[in-house]
Amino acid sequence: MSTTPSRGVAVITGASSGIGEATARALHAAGFQVALLARRVDRIEALAEELGAGALAIEADVTDRDGLTVAAARVRAELGDASVLVNNAGLMLLGPFSSGQREDYRRMIEVNLLGAITTTEVFLDQLTAAGGDIVNISSVAGRTARAGNGVYAATKWGLNGWSESLRQELLPDVRVTLIEPGVVATELPTHITHDATNTAINELYADATVTAADIAEVIAFTISRPRHLAINEILLRPAGQA
Ligand code: NDP
Repeated sequence: MSTTPSRGVAVITGASSGIGEATARALHAAGFQVALLARRVDRIEALAEELGAGALAIEADVTDRDGLTVAAARVRAELGDASVLVNNAGLMLLGPFSSGQREDYRRMIEVNLLGAITTTEVFLDQLTAAGGDIVNISSVAGRTARAGNGVYAATKWGLNGWSESLRQELLPDVRVTLIEPGVVATELPTHITHDATNTAINELYADATVTAADIAEVIAFTISRPRHLAINEILLRPAGQA
C-alpha cells in the first residue's frame, strides 16, 4: 500500500481522454491518489507516468464486472480504499431512431447506465468504508431530450433517477453528486456512427468553448466542500448554449 500523503483515493472511469483525464489531473493536483480506469491502456499508462506518485493506471472496461472486481482489488491493495468514484465513462452515439442504430443503443445503455451502476456496486464497500463521494457524469441530455438523441438521453435520464435514489440510500456518509454538462470540447462526438449526424455534431463541437478542465475544476470544487455540505446536482452549459 502506498505511503504517499493523500486526501483520499479517487477512482475515475474513462480517464483516458476528455473529462475523465482532466478530472484525474485536477484531483491529483488537489492531493488525491488517482486510479485511472479505461480500455485504452496506453493512454492511462502515459497519464499515470506523467502524474507520477499516487497515480495508478488500470485497464478496465465498465461493461466487464469481473474486470472491475480485479480493478477494485488492485485499488485497495495498491492505493487503499477508494473514497471517491467518478462514473465518467460514456458514449454519445447520436442519430435518428432506427434499427440501423440498434447496436449503438445497446452499447450506450451498457456503458453509460449499466457501466456506472456496476462500477458503483463493485466499489461500494470501499466507498462506504472510507466515507466519500460518488460523482456521476450525466448531461444536459439528462434533463432535456430532442430528436436524434433519444437513447443517449434515456441513459442520462436513467442515471439521474438512479443517482437520486442512491443519494438518499447512502447519506450522510457517502455524498452523491450529479454533474450535467452541456457541450464540452472532447472527442465524444467523433465516435458517432451515423454519418450525417457525425458531420453535424462534430461541426457543432468544433466551436465548443467549455473545456474538460472547466468541468474537472467544478468536480474538484464539489468534493472539496466540508462533509456537512452535499452538492447534489450541477447543470452547466457554455454561456452561449441555448
Ligand atoms: P471522451 O470520448 O473523451 O471520453 C469518454 C471516456 O469513456 C473515454 O475515456 C473512454 O475510454 C471511456 N469509455 C468508453 N467506453 C468505455 C468502456 N466500455 N469502459 C471503460 N471506459 C469507457 O468524452 P467526454 O470526456 O466528453 O465524456 C465523458 C463523459 O461526459 C461521458 O459520460 C459523456 O456522456 C459526458 N458528457 C460529455 C459532454 C460533452 O459535451 N463532451 C456533455 C455532457 C456529458 P476508453 O475508450 O479508453 O475505454
